[in-house]
Amino acid sequence: MAWLLIISSLIVLWVASLCKILLAPSKGSFLSNVGNLSKRDVLLVIAHPDDESMFFSPTINYLTSRGHNLHILCLSIGDADGKGNIRKEELYEACAVLKVPLQQVKVMDHPDLQDGFGKVWNHNLLADIIKAEVIGHGTETIITFDSYGVSGHCNHRDVHHGVRKLLHETSQRNIEAWELISTNILRKYSGPVDMWLSYLRAMQCSSGSVHCLLNEHPQKSFLAMARHSSQWVWFRKLFVACSSYTYVNTLRKFN
Ligand SMILES: [Zn+2]
Repeated sequence: MAWLLIISSLIVLWVASLCKILLAPSKGSFLSNVGNLSKRDVLLVIAHPDDESMFFSPTINYLTSRGHNLHILCLSIGDADGKGNIRKEELYEACAVLKVPLQQVKVMDHPDLQDGFGKVWNHNLLADIIKAEVIGHGTETIITFDSYGVSGHCNHRDVHHGVRKLLHETSQRNIEAWELISTNILRKYSGPVDMWLSYLRAMQCSSGSVHCLLNEHPQKSFLAMARHSSQWVWFRKLFVACSSYTYVNTLRKFN
């Protein structure tokens, strides 16, 4: 009986959280200072095709719905299983769903940046590539993984360190970068319920160095991820449904 009560409570909490996200979207102030309505060029740096849909879709939807000009740099074609060329095309299809113009999506296939556990990506090389993109687009805002990289994948973590390396270069001090905060496994699979803890986390940082972005269109995350046909297997469908990253992103400014 106690278990039934717990499960019922969790279902109610899940539905209530989802309703909050769908019916009362975030009024976040991320990248919109009071009195300054100018739109920004923003560069999202990811490691593999599908990172954008699985982890960053709340951020992407937030930025595109507010008219910011989003560029995506994907540092590999995700060729660990020999499907790199297919996955590259799937990324473009997913970006079309996410309303990111295809000419603003760049996928790298560098011999030293190949997908896989145990493939170490040179941080200097990453910093140079990201710097070229930053200069090319005139962007001053970068968004990427944090040092754990959500799933702990070494390529995600290297991308973070590449951005950090770039920030440490003295000539690039005008760039601001934001990292997607990795959560523990309970929060990671708590779906929309995690929004409450994410909100609290952001409220504790009154300096504006942490922002909680709710996904106003979580269904778009499913549709975008479904475009990654080669990856759209049952456990990823389950992941997208249960992952808090489908519903909320918490971004922290690089220190
Ligand atoms: Zn990845």
